[in-house]
Amino acid sequence: MPQATGRGLYIHVPFCHQRCHFCAFYLEIHHARAAEEFLGSLLTELRLYGEQRLFGSEPLQSVYFGGGTPTTLSAPQLATVLSAARETFGLQDEAEITVEAHPGSVTQDSLSHLRNAGFTRVSFGAESMNQLELDRVGRPGNPMSTVQMVTAARTAGFTDLNLDLMHGLPGQTIDSWAASLRQIVELAPTHLSCYALTVEEGTALQTAIRRGTVPAPDETLQNEMEDLAEDILGEADFTRYEISNYCRPGFASRHNRLHWTGGDYLGLGPSAQSYVAGRRFGNVSDLSAYNAFLRTGTLPVTESEQLSAADDACERLVFGLRLTEGITLEETGALAFSGLAGKVDELIGDDILERRGERVRLTARGRRYADTVAVTLLASLESSLSSLPLTS
Ligand code: SF4
Repeated sequence: MPQATGRGLYIHVPFCHQRCHFCAFYLEIHHARAAEEFLGSLLTELRLYGEQRLFGSEPLQSVYFGGGTPTTLSAPQLATVLSAARETFGLQDEAEITVEAHPGSVTQDSLSHLRNAGFTRVSFGAESMNQLELDRVGRPGNPMSTVQMVTAARTAGFTDLNLDLMHGLPGQTIDSWAASLRQIVELAPTHLSCYALTVEEGTALQTAIRRGTVPAPDETLQNEMEDLAEDILGEADFTRYEISNYCRPGFASRHNRLHWTGGDYLGLGPSAQSYVAGRRFGNVSDLSAYNAFLRTGTLPVTESEQLSAADDACERLVFGLRLTEGITLEETGALAFSGLAGKVDELIGDDILERRGERVRLTARGRRYADTVAVTLLASLESSLSSLPLTS
């Protein structure tokens, strides 16, 4: 199996102040008492993994607080968790330590506290700079607070700032999308993530679309918006280094790269997923059950699978293809599986993948079908393995 390329920690904070209409993440509405109890469980989970010496003595290259909205926890609470993670696993000197933040749930003081505690990067969920577009998807907050909190984060000493944006929002036009992008560029972040709105099962957005009160996302328009983002951000010196991610030189997210290059990561908190030494495992997606496991000193893992070499190679390939730089078949381990390598050649013939020297990546057309490519590669692997002759 190919060597992992680093190790990181992901912490899922399962609280928000309200649920956005499009959101299907596991979360609970924030209450101070529930947050306190969660914090105790999280520290126990950290301690249990520390006792297992899961990562040996190699320190972490990234820690990522996601959710949910991590900044529903107070800055001292977040600092306590980071300090426990540092003591448990150790951190590289240059470790990237990110906290996702809703601009309405931080202040100048809390950002300063987080910076002083060792956080190096803030990822703000801006989503749009158009108030109506935010309101239509039940997204709390306003564009002005994004502007103010980016300034506050800089004042606090953060130099690495990400902003998340969404395209394909109800009522969003190509012009309003361009306006959002230009306002965001003015804020001079180091990193931008641009996601297409997707309609998830069981969300309020899905119900509204079914009732006809909100239009479904228009795929053609979303594709145009994606192209426009690449143009506007390219002019502003952002490089598209992955399908949905752009950065200024030297500011690609180490946490993201870890996922796309087959690195090990441990996920803590309800519903968090992990991948360590070829094993994928996931926590229970329920806060009460999560707390109950940890009260008895038991890890809250409810799914676990040791990937076969074939599945591992396929996953590495699927993730690596998302990167603009692509990936070599050799580093994924895919060369050992003729079904996979053969399908890659076929997709190159179909102008879905392309070779760049030794590397393979999605073409501009292929980026539109990244999810289908993943399914196709997995299916080709399964059919080639099932057709192998049985040996005694
Ligand atoms: S803030 Fe983020 S995690 Fe919370 S409900 Fe909205 S999209 Fe979901």
